[in-house]
Amino acid sequence: MPLGRSSLLRARLVALQYLHHKQPLLGSRNLLTLAIETSCDDTAVAIVEKTGSLAKLHFNERITANQGPFKGIHPILSLESHEASLANLVRSSLPHLPKSTKLEGNEGTIKVHDHNGGYAVKQLPDFIAVTRGPGMRSSLNLGVNVAKGLAVAWQIPVLGVHHMQAHALTPRLVSAMQRENSSGAGDGDEILPKFPYLSLLVSGGHTILVRSKDLVNHKIMVSTSDYAIGDCLDKIGRAVLPQDVMETSSSVSYGPLLESFAFPNGASDYEYTPPRSSREENRLANIPSAFGWCIPVPFVHTRGGTKQNALEFSFTGVESQSTRICKVGWDKNNNKFNKMPRVEPMSTEERRVLAREVMRVAFQYMASRVLQVLEREKTYGEPASGTLVLSGGVASNKFLRHVMKAYLSARGYENLDIVAPPIHLCTDNAAMIGWTGCEMWEAEHFNPFDIRTLGKWSLENLLSPEKENDARGWVHNHS
Ligand code: AMP
Ligand code: ZN
Repeated sequence: MPLGRSSLLRARLVALQYLHHKQPLLGSRNLLTLAIETSCDDTAVAIVEKTGSLAKLHFNERITANQGPFKGIHPILSLESHEASLANLVRSSLPHLPKSTKLEGNEGTIKVHDHNGGYAVKQLPDFIAVTRGPGMRSSLNLGVNVAKGLAVAWQIPVLGVHHMQAHALTPRLVSAMQRENSSGAGDGDEILPKFPYLSLLVSGGHTILVRSKDLVNHKIMVSTSDYAIGDCLDKIGRAVLPQDVMETSSSVSYGPLLESFAFPNGASDYEYTPPRSSREENRLANIPSAFGWCIPVPFVHTRGGTKQNALEFSFTGVESQSTRICKVGWDKNNNKFNKMPRVEPMSTEERRVLAREVMRVAFQYMASRVLQVLEREKTYGEPASGTLVLSGGVASNKFLRHVMKAYLSARGYENLDIVAPPIHLCTDNAAMIGWTGCEMWEAEHFNPFDIRTLGKWSLENLLSPEKENDARGWVHNHS
C-alpha cells in the first residue's frame, strides 16, 4: 500500500479514537477548533465552535503584512509578518477558549494562564484547522508547522483546509452564526445556503464564479484570464478619481472611493436598465457616451465575436480604454482618441460618467456569466442553484448588488436569492478555515500528521491533492 494511503488510514483511526473518547456522538456534540490562516499576507487565528447547525466565533483576528513600498504582495515581507504575528495571535486567542465544565487536569481541558499569575480551565480544541493551500509556500509552511506543533503538544489531530473551499463555505458559517444569535429559531436545522449554490468571489486577487454542489464538490465555472476585478477598479480609480478625492484615502484600494465618487447620492443616482434579452444586450453594447467614447463590453465585438459566450472574465479592455480616455481624451469630430495627452484636466462630470460606465459594463458582464451558468444548469439537467453569494472586497459595492439583482430578475431569475456575507468574513480570515475544518471533520475527511503544504491545489482536486505537482514538478505522494 502506498505511504500516502496508510498514513491517511492512520489519521482516520487516530481521529475516530479521539472522537470515541469524547462522547457523545458526532453531530450532537460541539466541535471546537483553533484555526490558522497564513496563505498570503494576512496572519489570522480564530476559535470556532460548531454545534449541529449553530456556530459561535470565540475569537477571530488577523494582522495584515505591511507591504511598504511594494505594489503587490511580497512573499518575504509576508513571511516576516507571519513570523512576527502568528505565535502572539495564537497566545492571545487562548483566553477566549470556552470555559470547561470539567475540573482541572481532566481529559479535554487546558490550563490557560493570565498575566496575574492566575489561570482558567478551558476546553481543549478537538483539532487544529489550518490552511494547507493554495498560496505562498513559505507562508503556508509557517502556519502548518505551528499548527502541527500545537497539535503534537496538545495531542489532538490537525486538519489541512483548502483556502478556496473555505471562501465558498463562508455563507454557511454566516447562517450558522446568525442562527446561534437568534437562539436557533426558525428555518429548521439545515445550514444555509443549501447546495447547490453559486459564489462570485470578487476581490483584489480573485474573480471567480464557483458552483458548490456539495461539501467537497466545488467547480470553478468562470475565472479571469487577466486582472482580478478589484485590481482593475483600483487601477481605474487611480486614473479617474480627481486628485483631491484621491488624497482623502490613505489606501491604494480605490474601489470604495470610485463607488462613492460615481454615486454621491447612493442608489438614487443609479440609472440602470437591464437588457431584456441577449440580442438587446449585444445591440446596446459599446454605445458611445455623451463624451463620444465608450467602454467596450469584453468579447462582444472583439475577435470576430468568437468569444461572445466564453465562460471567461477579462477586464484588460475596460482598464486600458478608461485609462486612455483619462490620458488623451476623445476627438468627437473624428470619432477616435486624440493623438496628444489632454491639455485641460478632464472635467468632474466626464470623470463621473466614466466611473459609472466602467462599473456598469464590468458588473453587467459578470452578471451575464452568472446567467450563462444558471442556464447551463437547465440545459444539462443539473439541480438549480437557489442562491448566488457575492463575496470578496468588491462585493461591498452596492451598485454591483443592484446590477446583479436587476439583470438576473429581467432574465427570469427573480427568485434567486442574492446574499453577501459581512466583509470581514469575505476577506481572508481564519474563521472560514475553522468552519470548513468542522464541516470536513464531521464528514470524516481527516489528514495524517505528515501533510505538506500545497502552493497550487485545484479546487477540483480537493480530496486528491496527491495529483498536484509541487514547485519542483514532483507529484505529491501524500494525501
Ligand atoms: P479583498 O481582496 O477581498 O481584500 O478586497 C479588496 C479589493 O476590493 C480592493 O481592490 C478594493 O478596491 C475592492 N473594493 C472594496 N470595496 C469596494 C467597493 N465598494 N467598490 C469596489 N471595489 C471595492
Ligand atoms: Zn482568499
